[in-house]
Amino acid sequence: MSDPVGLPARGTPPAELFAEMRAAKREDADWHGGRTWSLVYHASDAVDDVVAEAHALFLFENALNPRAFPSLKRFETEVISMTAALLNGPHARGSMTSGGSESILLAVKTARDRARAERDVDRPTVVAPLSAHPAFDKAAHFCDVEMVHTGLRDDFRADVGAVADAVDERTCLVVGSAFGYPHGVVDPIPELAAVAADTGVSMHVDACLGGFILPFLERLGHPVPPFDFRVDGVTSMSADVHKYGFTAKGASVLLHRDRALYAHQPYGYDGWPGGLYGTRGVQGARPGGPIAGAWAVMRYLGEEGYLRLARAVLETTHRLLEGVRSIDGLRVLGDPDGPVFAFTTTDDGQNVFAVGDAMDARGWHLDRQQLPDALHLMVSPGHARVADRFLDDLRAAVNEAGFAEASGGQARYGE
Ligand SMILES: *Cc1c(COP(=O)(O)O)cnc(C)c1O
Repeated sequence: MSDPVGLPARGTPPAELFAEMRAAKREDADWHGGRTWSLVYHASDAVDDVVAEAHALFLFENALNPRAFPSLKRFETEVISMTAALLNGPHARGSMTSGGSESILLAVKTARDRARAERDVDRPTVVAPLSAHPAFDKAAHFCDVEMVHTGLRDDFRADVGAVADAVDERTCLVVGSAFGYPHGVVDPIPELAAVAADTGVSMHVDACLGGFILPFLERLGHPVPPFDFRVDGVTSMSADVHKYGFTAKGASVLLHRDRALYAHQPYGYDGWPGGLYGTRGVQGARPGGPIAGAWAVMRYLGEEGYLRLARAVLETTHRLLEGVRSIDGLRVLGDPDGPVFAFTTTDDGQNVFAVGDAMDARGWHLDRQQLPDALHLMVSPGHARVADRFLDDLRAAVNEAGFAEASGGQARYGE
């Protein structure tokens, strides 16, 4: 641990301050050079400039009170309605949140409260395939509902039979991913939604990753399984603008199919001397930057811009998949529907993390996964430039590593 630091007695001149911050930043992962395969979704410098200027314009504004800042209210309303149109929810209602985890927390809370109100469920459960994002486990913990995990099929998609067996009168929510983070595959959403609808249970489609790219892949003629509000029984969806929407962190959209379902989301308390506390999400004070940034990038790119980026991502993903599949000793997990995938070794006794170490040594940053051990890639438009170099290095890394002992790199996602 570093030594504790107290607030300095005297201030620091900006030039000195920023020099120190720039120096600190040099230790960070090189996402801009395409060396990372997670965390930052880089479209182009032009897109980043638009996001940065929009953030700066609304840096200090607070979206807590829409009457004070009608601009932010308008931007948020328009981001929600543009997203609803993309996901084919003509009557959808929702809100912007700080990210996928908050969208998911609110989806679980909304489903819990709906189950209480409509079916008098007092000890609710959430049924989620193993591949569902851990934000659902966290949400279940926060909301004091029980999590029931179900298995995956051999192709890493949700096993619908297992979900059907797990759903009962206590269930408040069934979860499906479009696409899931670990394997980039879309769950069988129509079948899952039918199971949920049969019991009057809510069904959330986690499109945090896919929400801003699957609609464009579909328009490009890429086969995209049904995943959005066109599927009967889907009651809510999450889509992160700060992933394939290409804005900066802090922007996600949560949508409910209609106003009645949305009604279980907001929270209000009117007994406080400070006045009515009414919020739709977790935050009280809400930064204006993420709302402005999301609105600006969606308006700047438009459908045409997103299609161009989706085409680049798709082309690069194909190149990478083919490249990885052509390397002796490696195999891709499942058949990814989107630009996210994981690969492991063809022989279970071999150590794929040793390849990860050899790639680290070459300046790449690949995330480690488990069940099974694998390395993980999320493809951004910026990766088009580095894909060939990456594959050359991967070939060399496999030869060199020979699947030896790894240095102890562990499968991890967060802190
Ligand atoms: C990133 C992600 C989340 C969580 O979103 P955060 O913005 O990181 O909180 C949820 N689901 C999926 C599929 C994701 O990829």
